[in-house]
Amino acid sequence: MRKTFRCAWCFEVNEIFVDLSAGEDQVYVEDCQVCCRPNTIHISIDVDTRQVTVENEPEG
Ligand SMILES: [Zn+2]
Repeated sequence: MRKTFRCAWCFEVNEIFVDLSAGEDQVYVEDCQVCCRPNTIHISIDVDTRQVTVENEPEG
């Protein structure tokens, strides 16, 4: 499933691919495609509705 997040550093929108089979709570670091700085991505998946919530913050 494709989702987007807004970079915490440069505020550009990044597209990410969420693997729904990887668990309902996922945390990983993704480098911004624009400024290359790391964002910590928090993904929450509601197993009933398949609603995916993406939150991010500057890493470190
Ligand atoms: Zn950025």
